[in-house]
Amino acid sequence: FDDRDGFIWFDGKLVPWREANVHILTHAMHYASSVFEGQRAYNGVIFKLRQHSERLVNSARILGFDLPWSAEEIDAACNEVLKANGLVDAYVRPVAWRGSEQMGVSAQATKPHLAVAAWEWGKYFDPAVAAKGLRLDIAPWRRPAPHTAPVHSKASGLYMIATMSKHHAEGRGYNDALMFDWRGQVAEATGANAFFFKDGVLHTPTPDCFLNGITRQTVMELAAKRGVQVVERAIWPEELEGFEQMFITGSAAEVTFIQSAGPWNFEIGDLSRQLARDYDDLVNGRLVNA
Ligand code: PMP
Repeated sequence: FDDRDGFIWFDGKLVPWREANVHILTHAMHYASSVFEGQRAYNGVIFKLRQHSERLVNSARILGFDLPWSAEEIDAACNEVLKANGLVDAYVRPVAWRGSEQMGVSAQATKPHLAVAAWEWGKYFDPAVAAKGLRLDIAPWRRPAPHTAPVHSKASGLYMIATMSKHHAEGRGYNDALMFDWRGQVAEATGANAFFFKDGVLHTPTPDCFLNGITRQTVMELAAKRGVQVVERAIWPEELEGFEQMFITGSAAEVTFIQSAGPWNFEIGDLSRQLARDYDDLVNGRLVNA
């Protein structure tokens, strides 16, 4: 991914893609002192950009470092990267981390750094597979309790178990994995939030130990606009038996239908399809006021 033409915004200026490098003693690489974002541009406009930039600033703050760039400046950096690379429909990846100024667990003397890359990224999941709904494995790892990890930061360290769960699922022929939390409640997929339909009501787990995704919040608003009742609550695996439809949401994943999660099967119903269409319309500027 590093050997290509293009420009990456790096600590305030655009540098050639191949030269956007960090030192091997970067604190983030040893101690996971990094946070990131992921958002999509549709027709040249980054969807909910300010919310993503604010979440990045907040994610870093939760890890104890303040970025010397405001959300507004991060917005500008993201737009600059799109423009410099001539991108219109793209995925934008800001990442912030503690630098190589100090080694050891303590990082008081490190400097915060920020980079923004962007590239064309079609669908997160193979469209042919997603059209039939993904098959989810049940992850061997559980989302940690809020007092054991900075669960409301989009911190890179939290993705260690996500990547391991994803690889475990792929190794067994699945597309992704559904993760439970430390209590055993349904949490989310490895990079997207989970939703379920039953009798026309939309159910989603309370985000008390994982990200309250920006797409998640958007889809809940879209559902409410359609007059669909949305219930945010603790969901136990035993309940999955009774749910009729399932989908996951994320900036990269958008709205993706689920065919099965472990032993539980779902159908791709009209309600899920409607919300996926609404989301597509909204991000492409065909729906207003959402
Ligand atoms: N959970 C995880 C673990 C994620 O990586 C993401 C993607 N950022 C989400 C949920 C969804 O968040 P959003 O809708 O803000 O992209």
